[in-house]
Amino acid sequence: MDKFEIIVVGAGAAGLLAAGTAANRGTKVLLLEKMFRPGRKLRITGKGRCNLTNLTRIDDFLSHVNNPDFLRPAFEQFFAQELIDFFHSIQIKTKTERGRRVFPQSDKAQDIVDGLHRWVNKSGVMLKKDVRVNKLFVKEGRISGVRLNNGKLYFADKIILCTGGASYPATGSTGDGYKLSKTLGHTITNTRPALVPIAVKNDLSNELDRLLLKNVNVKVFRRNEILSEKFGDMQFLKQSISGPIILSLSREFGKALHLGEHLEFSLDLKPALSELKLTNRFQREVEKNRRLDVTGLLRKLLPQKMVATFISRLKFDSLKLVDQLSNDEIKSIILLLKDFRLVASGLKDFDEAIITSGGVSLDEVNPETMESKKIKNLYFAGELLDLDADTGGYNLQIAFSTGRLAAMAATKKS
Ligand SMILES: Cc1cc2nc3c(=O)[nH]c(=O)nc-3n(C[C@H](O)[C@H](O)[C@H](O)COP(=O)(O)OP(=O)(O)OC[C@H]3O[C@@H](n4cnc5c(N)ncnc54)[C@H](O)[C@@H]3O)c2cc1C
Repeated sequence: MDKFEIIVVGAGAAGLLAAGTAANRGTKVLLLEKMFRPGRKLRITGKGRCNLTNLTRIDDFLSHVNNPDFLRPAFEQFFAQELIDFFHSIQIKTKTERGRRVFPQSDKAQDIVDGLHRWVNKSGVMLKKDVRVNKLFVKEGRISGVRLNNGKLYFADKIILCTGGASYPATGSTGDGYKLSKTLGHTITNTRPALVPIAVKNDLSNELDRLLLKNVNVKVFRRNEILSEKFGDMQFLKQSISGPIILSLSREFGKALHLGEHLEFSLDLKPALSELKLTNRFQREVEKNRRLDVTGLLRKLLPQKMVATFISRLKFDSLKLVDQLSNDEIKSIILLLKDFRLVASGLKDFDEAIITSGGVSLDEVNPETMESKKIKNLYFAGELLDLDADTGGYNLQIAFSTGRLAAMAATKKS
């Protein structure tokens, strides 16, 4: 009979750290991974650079997380500096960038995956790849083993479930952990895509696809009420918007957007200029370029790819010469530059979501140990739990800290 002290299911960020930690504490560990390569998602994090964590103070860090109280015990044991020290100990140097975001010095997420993989091997973990856990066994209220898709059974004293969320399913995270946990009586709180592009109802020309707008101000409206406002970079995609501030807003308004609530996004394309200053600037451009038509002048004020879409919203002929514009027409251009509206039609799908919001209910997990309150010796870690956070290295730190805490608790000698 194949019997281990601990089985870790899923070799992503949480699972790799959990398995290595447990094995280094003298435990016989089996790590089971569904994909042919472990850490598929880790490899694409931070646009291939892997934003490991964030060196902000713990209280600020926790303000970026949905369930901060639950995470405190995990962070008290193993937080950003401990994570960085750990990577240094396995020969991976790090660097800190704008916003206190930490990356590997090489700028290569693959180095993080390789480093963790080497460490896990060296620690004596038995890794089995290309195998999917499709059943968990419980005997007399205690977890006892797993069944794989090939029918093979493995037994263990303890199991740490680290199967991730349901986003970017091509990386192996297809929500299996939700189903497995549910069969054992765990509650799964509403799961939905988060940190995900927002689909818009307006017709966006193909030309806009991938256009990055730097330093814009975006306000979110529900009818006439401003619900939120963010300044930074955003990006147009096909019939959707994305980029740092939009992803963050997708998380803030995830529930409303998921339910199809009517929200509008107002882009201020010239946030450094008040309406009055922008009007003066526009008048100066008109003085200098009297023989230009409206299209020509807008090319001086907007990214080229945006001009056609902008013009399609004007209610007058864009071939008109600028010195023939009426005051009302000038005003309508200024208003559009300051308030370019997009109507949200919802969130894009899990395929495009950086994380999954929702997951195994935290009411049923002990935050001091990550152990299930329902099934003895079953532990959870990472995105599978009802934990999610903003972009900036917060989500990986959650996976690493909870993975480590689960392993420490599961290997504690009583
Ligand atoms: C494009 C992208 C960029 C990101 N960039 C960042 C970033 O820069 N910084 C940051 O903090 N966060 C980032 N994230 C989020 C971060 O990657 C996740 O929050 C984190 O990987 C979650 O770790 P995890 O170990 O819980 O799950 P995962 O990394 O998803 O790992 C789960 C593992 O379990 C395996 N598995 C699933 N089901 C089974 C099963 N039945 N049997 C066996 N194995 C199974 C999967 O194949 C997978 O390998 C990014 C996410 C995406 C999609």
